[in-house]
Amino acid sequence: VTQTLPDMLDASVAKHRSLPALEFFGQVTTYRQLAREVDLAAEGLRRRGVRKGDRVAIVLPNCPQHVAAFYAVLRLGAIVVEHNPLYTARELRHQFEDHGARHAIVWDKTYDTIAGFPADVRPDVIVSVDVTAALPLGKRLALRLPVPKARASRARLTGRPSARRVLTWATLTGGRRLPRRTPRPELDDIALLQYTSGTTGTPKGAVLTHRNLRANAMQGEAWVPGLREGAETFYGVLPLFHAYGMTLCLTFALSIGARLVLFPAFDVGLVADAARKSPPTFLPAVPPIYDQLARASTRGQIDLSTVRFAISGAMSLPVATVERWEEAAGGLLVEGYGMTETSPVALGNPMGPSRRPGTVGVPFPSTDIRIVDLDDPAKDLPPGEPGELLVRGPQVFQGYWRRPDETAAALLDGGWLRTGDVATVSADGFVTIVDRLKELIITGGFNVSPTEVEQTLESHPDVSAASVVGVPRGDGGESVAAAVVLRAGSGIDVEALRDFCRTHLTAYKVPRRIVVVDDLPRSLIGKVLRREVRARILEDR
Ligand code: ATP
Ligand code: MG
Repeated sequence: VTQTLPDMLDASVAKHRSLPALEFFGQVTTYRQLAREVDLAAEGLRRRGVRKGDRVAIVLPNCPQHVAAFYAVLRLGAIVVEHNPLYTARELRHQFEDHGARHAIVWDKTYDTIAGFPADVRPDVIVSVDVTAALPLGKRLALRLPVPKARASRARLTGRPSARRVLTWATLTGGRRLPRRTPRPELDDIALLQYTSGTTGTPKGAVLTHRNLRANAMQGEAWVPGLREGAETFYGVLPLFHAYGMTLCLTFALSIGARLVLFPAFDVGLVADAARKSPPTFLPAVPPIYDQLARASTRGQIDLSTVRFAISGAMSLPVATVERWEEAAGGLLVEGYGMTETSPVALGNPMGPSRRPGTVGVPFPSTDIRIVDLDDPAKDLPPGEPGELLVRGPQVFQGYWRRPDETAAALLDGGWLRTGDVATVSADGFVTIVDRLKELIITGGFNVSPTEVEQTLESHPDVSAASVVGVPRGDGGESVAAAVVLRAGSGIDVEALRDFCRTHLTAYKVPRRIVVVDDLPRSLIGKVLRREVRARILEDR
């Protein structure tokens, strides 16, 4: 690794000047135009006091301004802090309290919320961005953005909406370009405070350096055979505020001169419209998105045959989804594994016939793994035995922001990261993720993998989705409980489902309770939130 992220972007701009860098509702920004926008925004921020090492909050959906803001902050050597713009006011305030950024670049729809934070949390300077401003009127109307939850809960905030300085994106970028001699970041400076998804608890800020992030993009490049520099079209359907979308789209795609088509939210219709003009060649996404697109393709709504690289991560990829996608699109769908703490990709399947559905593949280049005893991370386990997955590599983070205890618990001597995931490795090195350590269910001394029970339930033709959790039992242990979503028109009852489980699972794995629900609670990226499932099941008593 020799380049910081702004150095990487400069090098890419020099090579791809007049190629399209971004596309948003048909509007194209070339690499040269992007570089200019980054420079203008950086100077706007510098004039308003942003310096090396400062944190700058970004609260934006996917849009061209998001990309420019990201690189403008980095160019100054300041630290980007990403946020989910659909978080509630309470969730956003928690994060602002945690990182304490004095500057924020926010979606205008979240402006009231952020400007309404208590005085000690509210940023001094807020840039409010109308993400539709640059679009022609017709496109503006066509753009259906999700409504932020933060707005609805504004009434609960204390403080009056007023920041010391409020400006628009046009004002921020309306001045001069950044002087060339402005100090640049170093490789080991912090580039990003990236919050984890909050699947198992409150999101934690993962500290990632330029070296971490650049390393992961380079590992990705080495991973993907036959990438055509300056000729790939990435579809940015994943949120840029999450580690997965951020690295694949903001650092990887732009480093190879790709065209990045940005979607403010995933929507089959929007993707189908864009695909007619700029067919996708590279699609990083998650299983629910692949399912929806494959169905749309079967209905003749979208042509997926141009997608040469389809990569799934963030949650386990059902083999049925792989089959559905490959049947519909013709190309391969391969699974990788990662976490915010690994910038985020740590393992991946080979992009070719030797990939192995049901596994997350093998370690990325320059990445080492171990599978260790669940109670003793010093003890390595042989192939086939489930244990905690440890990862070491240049993409492993520096620690959690202001959480020394959790950092010490996650980072072992020698640079090994405890992933908190239980995995097995085959004799020839392919890793299968079993479950999260925190979510294993302990019933009378036996560990039950909720994923195994979920897969059994989902193999029943009347079940469309299932989530399995441990619920506390009187004696201090846990019992297995499930929430299931039934297929439309299904008349199966809970007792029949339990019978079905009994024929496929050992007695202690069979759910004691099964609750039928309309939908499973999911995070914005589509992960099932098992802790919310547990609360729902407990409510049902
Ligand atoms: P939090 O750490 O706040 O509880 P989170 O772990 O979901 O949330 P992320 O960093 O977005 O936050 O996700 C990393 C986790 O996602 C991994 O630890 C793993 O549990 C899961 N994961 C990622 N890829 C896969 C995969 N291919 N198969 C199964 N699980 C995966
Ligand atoms: Mg995690």
